Amino acid sequence: MSGLKISLLFAAACTLTACAGSNPHFDASKPHHRPTGFVNNYLDNSKIGEGFVRWQWTRFTSTLPTDRPERVPRQAVDVAYLQANRTDTTATWLGHATMLWQIGGKNILVDPIFSERASPVSFAGPARLTPVAMRLDQLPHIDAVVVSHNHYDHLDRPTVLALQQQKGGAPLFIVPLGINDWMKREGVTTVQGLDWWQAHQLGDVKVSLVPAQHWSARGVADRHESLWGGFVVQHQGYSMYYSGDTGYSRDFADIAAKFGKFDFAQIPVGCYEPRWFMGNQHVNEPEAIQIHRDVGSKLSVGVHWGTFRLCDDPIDQVLDEFPKAAKAAGLKDGEFVLPALGQTFVLQRAVPPRSVLELSVPKRAGETDPQATASALPTSSSSSSPKNPPL
Ligand SMILES: [Zn+2]
Ligand SMILES: [Zn+2]
Repeated sequence: MSGLKISLLFAAACTLTACAGSNPHFDASKPHHRPTGFVNNYLDNSKIGEGFVRWQWTRFTSTLPTDRPERVPRQAVDVAYLQANRTDTTATWLGHATMLWQIGGKNILVDPIFSERASPVSFAGPARLTPVAMRLDQLPHIDAVVVSHNHYDHLDRPTVLALQQQKGGAPLFIVPLGINDWMKREGVTTVQGLDWWQAHQLGDVKVSLVPAQHWSARGVADRHESLWGGFVVQHQGYSMYYSGDTGYSRDFADIAAKFGKFDFAQIPVGCYEPRWFMGNQHVNEPEAIQIHRDVGSKLSVGVHWGTFRLCDDPIDQVLDEFPKAAKAAGLKDGEFVLPALGQTFVLQRAVPPRSVLELSVPKRAGETDPQATASALPTSSSSSSPKNPPL
């Protein structure tokens, strides 16, 4: 038997069974810990990956719908604004699950991938079908990078190594347990590993890792060895949530019980077919809307679409399916939107210092308090509806 056949067989076997090693972070008191890795809260991990060979065979032998990347709306990024901003709270979609969050004067990059492929190698694997909205050298100085799990479309080695070299010093990489070991092997020393429900303080911005229903692997023998999850970022009463890749589970009710309602949420809405295989690990549009409701989000944006073809659904399918799901669920206009590539949501506008306001604009009797006015600003700068996006 050739080496290739042996490794393919091994890979197939590992998708059906746990081919895991040891877990240096094992804590017997934690129900999601195992001596060999980690498990989900509400799903037997052996259910994830069940049928992988059948799925691959179906893909190989059938004709799947093609992608139409030209349908993905785009918007020019205001690079100068994002580079200068220290006060507004913003979120900008850069493609796939990558977003730039600005909160409390900190620049936080979420699941950054700037490579042309979501793959262990640069010459093969799923290619980027729409351009990245902002180049690495256009980013403001990044204070922290949060990585939800180690799949190639979320943990991109060339991007991590490039960010580590950024001018002004490396960002802090805040990652689920086990990815910190991977980072250190790659020579990245500014890293903070977190377990579910643990937090790290970035000045007065608090970053917490929360559970998601997913899995991890970068090779054939490291399945479930590193943890996966989502992130909560809080600053002065404002809270942002990213679910990470996830199937639908009771985890979201648990997160809401712990953190209360969120002001903003980033939730995946693409890469979910075939349902019989993907259902446990990736939500579809109705489930994404249910997460939005479970966590009480005031504004949610849908990500994990429009960029890399990783599943049976084309990268633009969500443009057709999401409006139907939103209508069926009775969503209000603008509470859960599909962003344009490069779109910035200004979530909170800074209020000029009171002393400046008082000096420059003397308040007359009966006039509205400027700080109260600012807090009533709409939660999104988006004047473009997903149905009529700017191109
Ligand atoms: Zn994943
Ligand atoms: Zn993914």
